[in-house]
Amino acid sequence: MYDYTLTEEQQAFKDSVKKFAERELKPLVAKADAMEDPKECWDLLAPVAKKSLQAGHGKLCIPEEYGGTGAGLIEFMILCEEIGYVDSGFALSAMVTACAPRLLLNSPEEQKEKWLRPTGEDETGKYIWAFVSTEPYGGNEMICPLPDPKLGIHTTAVRDGKGYRIKGGTKVFITNGGVAEVYMLNCRTRPDRSNVNGCNWLMFTKDTPGYSIGKYEHKVGWRTSTNTTIYIDDMWIPEEDRVGPEGEGFWVIENILLENAVGIAAISLGTMRAAYNLALAHCKERVTWGKPIIEHQAVSSKLVNMRMKIEACRALTEKLAWAAMNPKLAQDGLGKLAKLAKFHSAMMVQEVTNDAAYLFGGYGLMRGHPVEKLLRDGLPNRVVEGSIEANQWTMANYDLDLI
Ligand SMILES: Cc1cc2nc3c(=O)[nH]c(=O)nc-3n(C[C@H](O)[C@H](O)[C@H](O)COP(=O)(O)OP(=O)(O)OC[C@H]3O[C@@H](n4cnc5c(N)ncnc54)[C@H](O)[C@@H]3O)c2cc1C
Repeated sequence: MYDYTLTEEQQAFKDSVKKFAERELKPLVAKADAMEDPKECWDLLAPVAKKSLQAGHGKLCIPEEYGGTGAGLIEFMILCEEIGYVDSGFALSAMVTACAPRLLLNSPEEQKEKWLRPTGEDETGKYIWAFVSTEPYGGNEMICPLPDPKLGIHTTAVRDGKGYRIKGGTKVFITNGGVAEVYMLNCRTRPDRSNVNGCNWLMFTKDTPGYSIGKYEHKVGWRTSTNTTIYIDDMWIPEEDRVGPEGEGFWVIENILLENAVGIAAISLGTMRAAYNLALAHCKERVTWGKPIIEHQAVSSKLVNMRMKIEACRALTEKLAWAAMNPKLAQDGLGKLAKLAKFHSAMMVQEVTNDAAYLFGGYGLMRGHPVEKLLRDGLPNRVVEGSIEANQWTMANYDLDLI
């Protein structure tokens, strides 16, 4: 059996994140979301990001011995849901920073000292992290399990002295691009091998020469995080900054995708809760045919269905976070559970935000209405970190052995 009861500390953390998001983020969100220029939008929220990092949100998963909070994925889930309740774009940015250091938890001591400690001990709130993987011809290539070496990640890191040279490469849609302090670059270190046996994450800081930041994307939803193109012109990264043995980084990616599934599912949960609460309040107030619309059976049934979807997502997300923290006790394979939780929440958030907007009638379709923002914010979940369809294929083949 699973026990999802929060400890006193976890409940206190939840309350503190809730207060933080209400106090610091909420007053700026509508204005930021409406800004035409995505960079200006971030500039408005950058002081909030700084305060969030100063409050320790970015070092949540860094062990205490490196200055971090030493918390785990339950706290990570809480962070993503409570920030996501107020704004899912900002939650995505916070999620990436909080989660990325977990990639290094099994690294050698020197690597943890070099990359985890600065973030763990930082009090200035500057350490934002970014995963740099997606390439223009297909983000789903990152998870390609097929043996053909031509498939998968193309950006290639060639051995050069005691490190790797990366000459030419374009990465797109990078969350926290242009504002991160630490970047993790997914490269082909063994182009002769398949994607699964030929990639690594290479660490670099924002001051490393040889790359440039391209366009800031003008997104439909999750507008409050930056997503940029990154051009790798000519970079050199020392061997000691490669995560994992050469060619074996795919499994690090797999693990991080499982953990990020907790984050994406929790952000979806936050968005769904916000949409449901907004719709519920409206349905109690809006009167047609002489009574509040909640008293029309079709309306109350829709609200019950929305609630059912949210509760099911909560159960799956909490089970996943619990299983990730208790892998020995978890009966289901983590990979399977992570994918199911992510698919389910990504599908449900679209349905719940859609239903919420519908309950506002014409008002729900008007630019600037709070539910219209939630409608847009329900869209990216199914695309990020590999689309549902590509992941379903790997799941059918590998996790469930259906084929
Ligand atoms: C808001 C946002 C934030 C992001 N943040 C980051 C980030 O921080 N770092 C990063 O590296 N990337 C990031 N991405 C990129 C994201 O991971 C990719 O968009 C995603 O992996 C999908 O890749 P793609 O857009 O190239 O679509 P494609 O891979 O071209 O897919 C297009 C369509 O084809 C389908 N498809 C493709 N391959 C298959 C297959 N094998 N089987 C079945 N169907 C398939 C897909 O389901 C989809 O409908 C972000 C994207 C967004 C929208």
